[in-house]
Amino acid sequence: MLKNHTYIGKANYNGQIYQGLHPAIIDEETFRKVNEKLAHNRLDRKPYKNKDCAGLLSKVLKCKACGSSMIHTYTLKKGRHKYRYYLCCNAQKRGYSECPVRYVNAQQAEERIIQILRGEVKNIKNSPHKADVEAILSPIWNTLFFEEQRRIIQILIQRADYDSAAKKIGIVINGIPERMEFDSNIKKIHAKGRDAQKRQLGQEPPVRKSLLLAHHLNTHLTEGKIEDLNQAAAWMGFTQSQLSHILGLLHLSPAIQTEIIDGDSKSLYAIPEYKLRDLSSKINWTRQSELWTEIKSTHS
Ligand SMILES: [Zn+2]
Repeated sequence: MLKNHTYIGKANYNGQIYQGLHPAIIDEETFRKVNEKLAHNRLDRKPYKNKDCAGLLSKVLKCKACGSSMIHTYTLKKGRHKYRYYLCCNAQKRGYSECPVRYVNAQQAEERIIQILRGEVKNIKNSPHKADVEAILSPIWNTLFFEEQRRIIQILIQRADYDSAAKKIGIVINGIPERMEFDSNIKKIHAKGRDAQKRQLGQEPPVRKSLLLAHHLNTHLTEGKIEDLNQAAAWMGFTQSQLSHILGLLHLSPAIQTEIIDGDSKSLYAIPEYKLRDLSSKINWTRQSELWTEIKSTHS
């Protein structure tokens, strides 16, 4: 069950709107499904839609063999499936025979470098980028906008390099003078499972993604992992009013939440996210239910 709903008072956030309102308690089965989806899906809301095809490690990652930059790119497999990788510029320009490294799986390189970064930034005393260090260590890191994640990576990392022969990642972190080297643990073979999960999230209806994000935030708030909601809003690239709207979704009736999280109606995909705003502001669940029926019929 959603145990503790005192976050509003604790965070003293938008108290005027929420005074006297309490988030709906959804049933155990639905809550289990929320947690299941949260566990399976990273909550990136804009997966790789960036126009310039930038990757998290663009401008940061270099090929150890050539000293060239590695650029982020992708191929489409079976028409839809994106395989993302970082490609050595030298290999791109002069051919694969010129570079032993050639390319590296983007997702695995990103995950490994973030893992290394998390381990190392903890030890930096008096970092001038305290907020960015906190952001990368925070459980909400995965909910940040891609642009915000990339900005933070570029602030924290001076440069990184990849050596496929030695299976090493080198990294120079701002605030730590010397270059450090780590095992890369990156396989050349592409791991199918993860991208399949990402694709699955991409297919979730927008209203479901928002409600999942609301529960995700609520969980962290009740566990005390987020102390400053304004800062959380900034990290996620939200304005305060957007964040307040998202948390407001917890006031939807249990029946509506269950339908949004677990329903398979096609209309869920068509309902614009903002339509839930009016709905969640209604205190009366019967009124919510009438409006919900109306919204669904206009978008079916
Ligand atoms: Zn190279």
